[in-house]
Amino acid sequence: LAVTINPFTDPSGGGPGAIIAFEDQTALEQSASIRRDFVANVSHELRTPLTALVGFIDTLRGAARDDPAARDRFLGIMEREAGRMIRLVNDLLSLSRVESEERRRPEARVDLVALIRATLVTLRDQARAAGVAVDLQAPDDAIQIRGDADQLTQVCQNLLENALKYGAAGQAVTIRVGRIEREPVLRGPAVQIEFIDKGEGIDALHLPRITERFYRVDTHRSREKGGTGLGLAIVKHIVNRHRGRLKIESEPGKGSNFIVLLPAD
Ligand code: ADP
Repeated sequence: LAVTINPFTDPSGGGPGAIIAFEDQTALEQSASIRRDFVANVSHELRTPLTALVGFIDTLRGAARDDPAARDRFLGIMEREAGRMIRLVNDLLSLSRVESEERRRPEARVDLVALIRATLVTLRDQARAAGVAVDLQAPDDAIQIRGDADQLTQVCQNLLENALKYGAAGQAVTIRVGRIEREPVLRGPAVQIEFIDKGEGIDALHLPRITERFYRVDTHRSREKGGTGLGLAIVKHIVNRHRGRLKIESEPGKGSNFIVLLPAD
């Protein structure tokens, strides 16, 4: 709490007085500390692959110079680390773009079912590699809403990628799309998209923080799967920009259901 006292003399002759201002700084301080944490996280996330790259360059110049097998292996690792940095920078750019647009609700007409089908095509190889079949349950006709097609595609892509990454191998992932005539939270007609996996699930302890930037249940596992820790933060901001809601239902050991609610008015 900041208190400032400004003495003044009443010009209309009422005598001396003072203005005392009480300013609640907790919100300000909180946002400053969130920003500091964010910068520290980004620096750390970039330094890790960079340090690895520099180390491998050194090894390639020295010990591995005349060993083609080792050279190939190290180049493979370097490629993976560079790829990780590119994904991180791309996600950071997406996040800052969405954040800067959050006040403006997108106006274009978007067909959600077509958009989800396109996402399925994009991630077909990834699903095959994970040994997961994706089952799309959607109405035959188009579902039109007001939205930003690129951003809604990113929502579907991030949530389907997570279902593939953290779902159980050999168990299908279901995407279910449907209309809700009157959604109680959005207080009106809505469209609901569910991403259901039968994977490890998320402990209730982690659920409230899961959409925070860089929050991961298991950092090692996320990194191993190529995650940046920003996917759900991006999803949340995009859904907010569309005046929708992201709901997460999850049971450890059984699986998760990520539910995107979007207004359909
Ligand atoms: P990441 O790049 O780590 O996947 P996200 O922001 O997409 O970042 O997700 C944050 C964390 O939430 C993940 O690291 C993981 O621990 C957890 N998570 C996300 N989706 C799922 C899911 N479908 N099942 C279990 N855990 C999940």
